[in-house]
Amino acid sequence: MIIRVRRLLLVEDSNPYLLNNAQIEIDDEGKIVGIGKVSKLRFNKKFNIVAPQFMNNHVHILDLDLRKYFKTMYIDDVVGAPYGIKYLYINTISIENLLRSIEYSLDVAYRTGTGELWIVLENGLRTIELLEKISRKFPMIIRPFLEPSKFHLGPWEDYCEDIVNEVQMIVEKGYDVELISPLNYNVNELKEIEKIVHSRDKMIMTHVSETLDTSEERDLDLAIDVLKADVLVHCVHVRDLSKLQDRIIVVTPRSNLALVGKFNVEVFKNVKNVRVGTDNVGLNDPDMWSEVRVLLRSNVDPYHICRSVFMSVRYNDVARFQVVYCDHLVEKDCVFLRRILWMGRTLGRIDGKIVRMFY
Ligand SMILES: [Zn+2]
Repeated sequence: MIIRVRRLLLVEDSNPYLLNNAQIEIDDEGKIVGIGKVSKLRFNKKFNIVAPQFMNNHVHILDLDLRKYFKTMYIDDVVGAPYGIKYLYINTISIENLLRSIEYSLDVAYRTGTGELWIVLENGLRTIELLEKISRKFPMIIRPFLEPSKFHLGPWEDYCEDIVNEVQMIVEKGYDVELISPLNYNVNELKEIEKIVHSRDKMIMTHVSETLDTSEERDLDLAIDVLKADVLVHCVHVRDLSKLQDRIIVVTPRSNLALVGKFNVEVFKNVKNVRVGTDNVGLNDPDMWSEVRVLLRSNVDPYHICRSVFMSVRYNDVARFQVVYCDHLVEKDCVFLRRILWMGRTLGRIDGKIVRMFY
């Protein structure tokens, strides 16, 4: 299959660039086997502007029903472990409600051009089956990070064998692990968890320095030095950015603004591997275009935004593109890029050999 495009946005090895009058060749398995330029007259109008699909690197998908609480309550009372109402809710609510929340989240992500989701699953061993049931319906890459069902009030509590055993089960089933905060675990548990997860080549994700309290309790040092977490989420109050260099840093702009009043803008310029997530579906739809606009309004450079939100596209990868709305075509690249990000909307998707237009 050959798709001819008036303007194609690509991100290769973290470098965004634009190609005019481009051609994408996709083989029978849905893989990209060629990208190049063609003569002006031959592009297909339907595919005016094509961009890679988004990566949403941090999303909680079980708490849709908690929307009214997210808007009115203090952050720790909603999502803080272990007494935030989110945990009570997820452990007591009906399977039907959880399935509805998952389906809603994946459907919004799909329709707004997301190709890969890193999903946090609270009480992961109990809820993973629900996600797997629904995720088959959507042609997206889904990477679940499972949370153990137990945590402590603080790191001073005694070592708990059950927690470590639960993490062991999570990685034995082949999943990555998320800890709500390193402050909710005993230091010896963190060390043990680090060994278990990394010996299986799995990843550890954790929330870090979202609030000033957790930052003052030095959660970043625990996350880096003891837990050796691969993915650090939020980092709102991290000032020494050199500590973040060798990790994947995930910022959730809308959620950080809503819950703690700011997000870390500096990381986009100063840290190598920054990604973006939408956080709780109870707070925000998993729509990456909305995050992109918040980043633009906060004066993040459009090139930095592109390398943080779009999937990297390489030869031999499954084709994962979205057809994007934007009506101006003759501008300089940097102006044009800003306009795509500002006015962008997913008109359709290319998933391997499958092309689906929504409008
Ligand atoms: Zn989170």
